[in-house]
Amino acid sequence: MAKPVKYIFVVGGVLSGVGKGITAASIGNILKARGLKVNIQKCDPYLNVDAGTLNPGEHGECFVTVDGAETDLDLGHYERFMDIELKRSSAVISGSVMSEVIADERAGKYLGKTVQIIPHVTNVIIDRITKAAEGFDVHIVEIGGTVGDYEGLAFIEAIRELSVQVGRENAAFVHVVYLPYLGASKELKSKPAQNAVKDLRGLGIVPDVLVARSEEDADEDIISKLSLFAGVPEQAIISLPNASSIYEVPLTLQKRGIGQVLADRLNLETPKANLSEWQTMVEHATDQSKPVVHVGVVAKYLNNEDTYMSVFEALNAAGWDQGVQVDLEWVDAEEITKENVESVLDKTDGIVVPGGFGERGVEGMVIAADYALKQKKPYLGICLGLQVAVIAAARAAGLTDANSTEIDSKTASPVISTMEDQKGKEATGGTMRLGNYEAIIQKGTTAADVYKASSVQERHRHRYECNNDFRDSYEDWGIRVAGLSPDGSLVEMIDAIDHPFFLCSQAHPEFNSRPNRPWPFFKGFIEAAKK
Ligand code: GLN
Repeated sequence: MAKPVKYIFVVGGVLSGVGKGITAASIGNILKARGLKVNIQKCDPYLNVDAGTLNPGEHGECFVTVDGAETDLDLGHYERFMDIELKRSSAVISGSVMSEVIADERAGKYLGKTVQIIPHVTNVIIDRITKAAEGFDVHIVEIGGTVGDYEGLAFIEAIRELSVQVGRENAAFVHVVYLPYLGASKELKSKPAQNAVKDLRGLGIVPDVLVARSEEDADEDIISKLSLFAGVPEQAIISLPNASSIYEVPLTLQKRGIGQVLADRLNLETPKANLSEWQTMVEHATDQSKPVVHVGVVAKYLNNEDTYMSVFEALNAAGWDQGVQVDLEWVDAEEITKENVESVLDKTDGIVVPGGFGERGVEGMVIAADYALKQKKPYLGICLGLQVAVIAAARAAGLTDANSTEIDSKTASPVISTMEDQKGKEATGGTMRLGNYEAIIQKGTTAADVYKASSVQERHRHRYECNNDFRDSYEDWGIRVAGLSPDGSLVEMIDAIDHPFFLCSQAHPEFNSRPNRPWPFFKGFIEAAKK
């Protein structure tokens, strides 16, 4: 008989945003380093059907999986911490669960029964969790939000039921709680955490592990108090103070024994995790003595850095690899004008224009790309960053009305537009090109220099493409096609002629970067910026 899958459910209490996703990802990192085959899944209590429609300025980056799902940014943490590629099934969002139940109801699949949250909605959730777990030794499931949130109740009930179905020896619950610091008495307080455990118990779940987040390390007194009131053994209460880098968290959790506690609890017989390679990466990441490379990121959602999380992580990882600290300067694209571009970007060692949608800030991005082309500054264009570079090159060559039809649907020079022959063929979700597509790298280009390969798969999320009617003019404009779809019909990458480093991708290479395995696209850019 096949060994049963071991489930680890990660829930949170007291506050959201204290690092439940990082904790879940770190547990995955540790168990994978124990030689186990681990999968991970995020359940989000929003009524959206996917994360594609969420405002990134509010909710952070939309992470894209290889198979084209638009998901929560926590999946990005999972991929980076566990060095795995997740699938659509790793994202379970209430709206998609509800849609499935309602579609089944309309199709008559419930045979006249009253359709209810329990068992119909919970059964769909259980089904999605168990399907995603198939073939793995361990399956980690993070429930978004905090325990007791009205919207998350169906997920909590589903994991409670599932733990009974699979047997308690095959399911462990990790509760991430927060210990506030009271300045007046200079102490950490455990009461909110006790209450959070009570909330969880009230829903029928007894936690096996408590991860106690706090500003500073929790001392023995507070751990023993928490142990007494929460009914969790002291060795299963892991104090997790603030870290200087999120990548330190697996090391801290490992040192404090979470791997062993979970292995014992779930009868996982494996050697201890060896995190020495990870440790070396963290040393590079936290070394403040390295020379600084200044990178200007010209973008429009600047109120929330999470919007470009994977870009940020990919640039940093490239810096650690190259022995430099990357200092990111966020530049509001809407503030850039032809008059001030020099003073704004002059001091940077390189310019990045990341992805984006809509008109806002695009003119500033075109000006930044034009500046990088003319001043021979290292430039990295990601998706929209490629499109504005093509527009800038075309305008500089005299096509002054060059634009994307996303910005100006009536432009006489639509250098970026939707491809008629692509409709229906390339589009997956709605009209967007989503997920992995191959690019054939053109010899002698910057893309060939950095990737050192003849082709590469990158993840896409866009609607507009380089208009092939203008492709023959590229070399006159000073740019070149550096990557093409296998059938030659779509431009995947461009670079610039006679330029130290100017590389753009229609895809989002940031999703393939790992903290300990920086992606060539970013590594090449930081190498050039360093010079
Ligand atoms: N808005 C552009 C498009 O849809 C670029 C998208 C992006 O940068 N992800 O093609």
